[in-house]
Amino acid sequence: MNNKESIRLQKVEESSTLAMAALAREYKAKGEDMISLSLGEPDFKTPKHICDGAKEAIDSGKYFSYPPVAGYLDFREEISRKFIEENGLKYDPSQIIVSNGVKHSITNVMFSILNKEDEVIVFSPFWVSYSAIITLAEGKPVYINTSIENNFKPTEEQLKSAISKKTKAIIFSSPCNPTGTVFSRDDLKKYRDILIDHPDILIISDEIYEHINFTKEHCSFGSLDGMIERTITMNGFSKSFAMTGWRLGYIGAPKSIAKSINKMQGQTTSANCSIAQRAGITALRAGNESAILMKESYLKRRNIVFEKLNEISHLKVNLPEGAFYFFPEINKIIGLKSHKGKEIQTSNDLAMYLLEDAKISLVPGEDFGAPNCIRLSYAASEDELIEACKRLKNSIEKLI
Ligand code: PMP
Ligand code: GLU
Repeated sequence: MNNKESIRLQKVEESSTLAMAALAREYKAKGEDMISLSLGEPDFKTPKHICDGAKEAIDSGKYFSYPPVAGYLDFREEISRKFIEENGLKYDPSQIIVSNGVKHSITNVMFSILNKEDEVIVFSPFWVSYSAIITLAEGKPVYINTSIENNFKPTEEQLKSAISKKTKAIIFSSPCNPTGTVFSRDDLKKYRDILIDHPDILIISDEIYEHINFTKEHCSFGSLDGMIERTITMNGFSKSFAMTGWRLGYIGAPKSIAKSINKMQGQTTSANCSIAQRAGITALRAGNESAILMKESYLKRRNIVFEKLNEISHLKVNLPEGAFYFFPEINKIIGLKSHKGKEIQTSNDLAMYLLEDAKISLVPGEDFGAPNCIRLSYAASEDELIEACKRLKNSIEKLI
């Protein structure tokens, strides 16, 4: 049969985070001793009290029907409370939409706000699906390229020159996937001072790693003076509460945008799973204790991996302040090093070599907008991480 895929979909590639994870699974199924550090997924189980909340919801028999499109009102009230108390963000429940994970929230937002060729400024490196979703919604990603030297933070000049008459929105994550960069209040204030002169630009602030932040403060962009009216704040349960499989994310947005997103969701997926929502409300009501414990464990792992990566020649590594990724620069390898006469020309070549030789799976930097970097997720046990770093060192240092 001829290729029936739409031209729109042909413009994007399969998600490389998911593709590398699938490849690692295939190797494991073949009996290979594979250590998978590709998927950004907590290795913890969802805390018991959250699972109990879901079980109680099932047993009560009250949650088997379609929930309201935007999510249960009491859940949105709880999210509204969280936004106000924890983030200084005043979104009332009518401004909140619960969706099938933050990936879905981003899709809803982009399809609700973008017209053809509208530009969205993306801080690069960026999470792979940002560019794919913008492209599917027929918008145009405009990248601000940053590097490890300035801790992957755009300068004010870069932001100013990325803005054009077609700029509809700007998107970034803090803490950032894939770099681990945390944008401080001072960093964000500098961007705010520029954006204040461009009142039509929306800011999409992806805060899914909020609780995996090793600095003293998480700053929500919308809490800065004059920004709440223009900021769409995204958050979810996948990372902080180890709930990737439950598919639960949410946004707070200006009223008119929340209304559009409600329309979009009502005509496409409808409300998110009822039981997942009841688990989410349990998580928020119980507070952040379990998230804090997991964060402490990530911090310990980060420090172990940082020390080990620094012992490996040819990698340039910075100290990530949040999320659970390292994003080392590999300029001293690509185009310069070979294995058995075959040159490592790209980050993808390196990832494939490491998969074969070291039996570790990482994600190449290309799809994050950084072909000179490679991503390692340290959401794995300490033993696995130590072994993976040993294998990484051995495989990289034998390149000639
Ligand atoms: N934003 C960022 C920055 C991410 O890393 C991810 C990956 N989990 C998502 C959004 C989407 O997460 P989910 O759909 O699981 O809520
Ligand atoms: N966001 C995670 C990652 O970057 C999960 C995979 C995905 O949804 O892309 O690995």
